[in-house]
Amino acid sequence: MNVKKLNQIYEGKAKKVFATDNPDFYIVEYKDDATAFNGLKHGTIAGKGVINNKMSNMMFMLLEKNGVRTHFVEQINDRETIVKAVKIVPLEIIIRNVAAGSFSKRYGVEEGTELKAPTLEFSLKNDALNDPLINNSHIIALGVATEKELSDIQAMAFKVNEVLKGFFASIGVKLIDFKIEAGRLPNGDIILADEISPDTCRFWDAETNEKLDKDRFRRDLGGVEEAYQEIFRRINSK
Ligand code: UDP
Repeated sequence: MNVKKLNQIYEGKAKKVFATDNPDFYIVEYKDDATAFNGLKHGTIAGKGVINNKMSNMMFMLLEKNGVRTHFVEQINDRETIVKAVKIVPLEIIIRNVAAGSFSKRYGVEEGTELKAPTLEFSLKNDALNDPLINNSHIIALGVATEKELSDIQAMAFKVNEVLKGFFASIGVKLIDFKIEAGRLPNGDIILADEISPDTCRFWDAETNEKLDKDRFRRDLGGVEEAYQEIFRRINSK
């Protein structure tokens, strides 16, 4: 597809978004910048942007094959991808299969505890408020999403989990939890947007429980670049 990159319309912590000469499409550019704890910790993970770009696109293609609509259109190069222009619903949509991170802290459940069923939770995307947890009734009351959108988002999130959990199991990786974002197309349809990468998912080696994700950066565990490379290597071995 031939679109011309125009002005930058947004810069996030890990990506930049550019307008194109076609209003239906944006170009996203993945950076090596890494942040944690709502921007309190800053760093660079060499090669991360390339891995997250390629990996996200592979995950989006896998999901599309399994009936999940995504914003993915076409990878342009190592760091840039054409995506459908959407308005992001300002929610972090989090699915968990195993207790970890903030869930473990909040409920006093040891990291690594299998949950009896996958769970879904929402945080309001608002850095100034530190992305507070938000429930369905608040989401509707505040007009963040409609009841129909919320039900589409929930169905999409659980479907994404089923597809990804199975895929990662097949490459010896446990999908502990992950965050996705939803976008609204001009016609109002909800599709999957943002990224799917070690920045946004927790991946543990199925045999050793070794962490193969951004927790290595957040918790100063070392071997950060190697963990991203290892996940990418396994995905490509399929
Ligand atoms: N997550 C994310 N962005 C955020 C917060 C969380 O991508 O701003 C992902 C995180 O990588 C993990 C999942 O969502 O896979 C659940 O994160 P949690 O709520 O446990 O937060 P954390 O412990 O990372 O603060």
